[in-house]
Amino acid sequence: MSDWYRDFAHSGIGTTITKQLGLPRPGVLRRYEPGQPLLPGPAVVGSAGEGRLRETLSAVLKDAGVSTDDDGGKPAAVILDATGLTGPADLAAAHDFLAPAVKRLRPSGRVVVLGDPASDADSPAAAAARQALDGLVRSIGKELRDGSTANLLYVPAGAEASVASPLRFFLSGRSAYVDGQPVTLSTAEIPDQDDVRPLDGKVAVVTGAARGIGAAIAKVMARDGAHVVAVDIPAAGQSLADVANEIGGTALQLDITAPDAAQRLIAHLEERHGGVDVVVHNAGITRDKLLVNMDAARWNSVMAVNLQAQLDITQALLEGDVFKPGGRVVAVSSQSGIAGNRGQTNYAASKAGVIGMVRAWAPAFAERGATINAVAPGFIVTEMTAQMPFGTREVGARLNSLQQGGLPVDVAETIAWLSQPASAGVNGQVVRVCGQSLLGA
Ligand code: NAD
Repeated sequence: MSDWYRDFAHSGIGTTITKQLGLPRPGVLRRYEPGQPLLPGPAVVGSAGEGRLRETLSAVLKDAGVSTDDDGGKPAAVILDATGLTGPADLAAAHDFLAPAVKRLRPSGRVVVLGDPASDADSPAAAAARQALDGLVRSIGKELRDGSTANLLYVPAGAEASVASPLRFFLSGRSAYVDGQPVTLSTAEIPDQDDVRPLDGKVAVVTGAARGIGAAIAKVMARDGAHVVAVDIPAAGQSLADVANEIGGTALQLDITAPDAAQRLIAHLEERHGGVDVVVHNAGITRDKLLVNMDAARWNSVMAVNLQAQLDITQALLEGDVFKPGGRVVAVSSQSGIAGNRGQTNYAASKAGVIGMVRAWAPAFAERGATINAVAPGFIVTEMTAQMPFGTREVGARLNSLQQGGLPVDVAETIAWLSQPASAGVNGQVVRVCGQSLLGA
């Protein structure tokens, strides 16, 4: 989908007008294409504090074919290892490294900072310095322009092997619309995977796959090698079949709120596929009204689809044998579940509930070598947003650090990354795909 304003802002006359009036100039985002290198140029790597991850970083970057030779030109990424900070004074080294390096960053560049979680610190001063990275990275995200992003990885001691998958994600075009996000890693066994088809041989269920974001998720998971079981309501049967046929997947007509929905899904997976590796809870509905005008039907239907069905299906997965070892669950939440939204008390409550569910289940999933995470999309350009009044749509799309709406594929890429075998060290996290929205940031 084209962004008329971004195209205008980069045209000859548009460049002059937007610069003179100080209007936003959204960058063209670098998005993933199979076969492209992880980064279109070198990465500049530096450290502040002890720099415990030096060897890990150099191994990951070498493996990914990323050059770390700094020729003084424009780097495609700036990576700071800020592990081992003992107090605020150590942060000066972070500033000294980042300021000149970020100044040289090329468009659609990446800033990734790695630090220790504040919760593990052995002194308040160390905790303060570690937490300071959060404010630092979020602010860099807000200062960057031209489609560049800044993200933060908190790496506990012993979780070094977990770094490769999220670091590659944040550097790649897969994370185009993920900005200003902290992700805390955990210790896990990291299996090998094929980097071109990381989901090869996996069976993945995607609910709400007949259109919109769900259809994009199904396509990206299939591109990455998965056999996709595309689920949607019978009324969406034709478009569901079209999506499944296009990607060589299976269509399953199922209303996920039906009393026997979880049992029917599991029976299908056992009989037809011998199990399931990935479940993406994407199906969702809105029934907006101000709280004071909201009837019980609106409240109940949103809770049933957006939250209760996710709980019931996940519970059933854990009780039987169908969910394979190393399985992945990714639940779609929303920015509304973090920031709240006028007219969406039901929707925001359901989407905040999804976050509570994911966090509560993460330890039990870790015990099985599995993970459960949430993604929270912000303003994503879909047929639904195309129907919004012009002014509302433009304001919604621009109120983020990347000054544009995201695409369904941006949500899909993030979900596909969390579904990878090598993402075993990312568990119980909420990753916003919102271009660092100003709402609830
Ligand atoms: P959409 O309405 O285009 O698609 C949702 C799909 O879910 C539809 O195909 C629908 O038939 C299906 N569905 C609804 N109820 C179902 C049920 N009971 N059983 C099975 N399938 C059912 O929505 P979308 O914009 O693609 O959103 C996908 C997800 O992303 C939703 O969870 C939504 O809340 C979330 N989200 C979207 C945005 C956005 O900007 N579009 C932002 C934040 C979060």
